[in-house]
Amino acid sequence: MADMIPFIDLLAQRARIKERTDAAVAKVLDEGRYILGPEVAELEEKLSEFAGIGRTLSCANGTDAILIPLMAWGIGPGDAVFVPSFTFASTAEVVVLAGASPVFVDIDPDTYNMSPESLEAAIDAVKAEGALNPKAVIAVDLFGQPADYPRLEPVARKHGLKLVSDCAQGFGCTLGDKASLHWADVLTVSFYPAKPLGAYGDGGAILCKDDALYDAMKSVRVHGEGKARYEYARIGLNSRLDTIQAAILLAKLEVFREEIEMRQRVADAYAAGFGNAVKLPHIIAGAQSTWAQYTVEVEDRDAFRAHLAEQGVPTAIYYPIPLHMHEPYAGYPRAPGGLPATEAAANRVVSLPMHPDMPQADIERVVAAVTGFRS
Ligand SMILES: *Cc1c(COP(=O)(O)O)cnc(C)c1O
Repeated sequence: MADMIPFIDLLAQRARIKERTDAAVAKVLDEGRYILGPEVAELEEKLSEFAGIGRTLSCANGTDAILIPLMAWGIGPGDAVFVPSFTFASTAEVVVLAGASPVFVDIDPDTYNMSPESLEAAIDAVKAEGALNPKAVIAVDLFGQPADYPRLEPVARKHGLKLVSDCAQGFGCTLGDKASLHWADVLTVSFYPAKPLGAYGDGGAILCKDDALYDAMKSVRVHGEGKARYEYARIGLNSRLDTIQAAILLAKLEVFREEIEMRQRVADAYAAGFGNAVKLPHIIAGAQSTWAQYTVEVEDRDAFRAHLAEQGVPTAIYYPIPLHMHEPYAGYPRAPGGLPATEAAANRVVSLPMHPDMPQADIERVVAAVTGFRS
């Protein structure tokens, strides 16, 4: 068996940007303002600048980043929040943590992002049944590409629902050069190390356009703090971003635009090399993906993965079991007609190595392994 190439090579990135990140961390350690230090506010400014829209509130991780706006809006028991099932656990988990009910919506079979038709049908069904109050939609920018916001937003607005972009995998992605926040009320980010903009630990952020919402979320972030210190206006969380992570992220943000281009070059080389060997990722017209994952579809996935492993190419499955099929989520409502596209995708998708520092030789190895499968 050949040596495995890396699936994501965080250490190659580390070597490329070592000087600036080490200097940034040393500065925080020397200055001694470890929680909500000046780098945190600076990062928040720079993230808004990068997105070209909105105000940013940092927080402890990408899961809290979705929970915080739900809490700030007062979403809770008796409320319905529409979410995809083909996503990471956080997207639905935060709805349950807020005390509300997730309602699972199907996806588009080509982009894997929320289907506007399934969303509309799910909202109509919940309204007709009358047991839950529809309050919000959480669309996920899965694998780094924006959901179809120009079609999702009118559905959400027509029914008076808040729209969240769970952009944990997609910070930096655009549609017609615009960030998802152009359509959504909030855009949430994760800085988990393996995400395209990753820290060296946990971190998250929320971008929003509304000052009152920003103030409420800021209060939620620190225990529901009111106007004065140790005065509480609501139940909140402890969800601060630490200064060291902010300093690391500031350094990484400087090279992030270039890294998205580096990922795009890998994606282009894959698409050119694979031909018809697999179903290629489908990016919607006018979109730029951050390529958090490069995900293809194959018929005989187990054999495909075994063949690639033999050629030294690691693979991963995002996500093998849709959320609505896990025991803790099985009792929540689903869109009428169920989630056939979600269940089909879960059986066919497989993600390939993808990171900005991929050497040409590794790209060629992946292409050879993929095109060599049963040929
Ligand atoms: C990673 C991820 C999250 C959660 O982010 P954490 O920082 O790990 O809490 C939420 N949603 C999606 C779609 C993710 O991929």
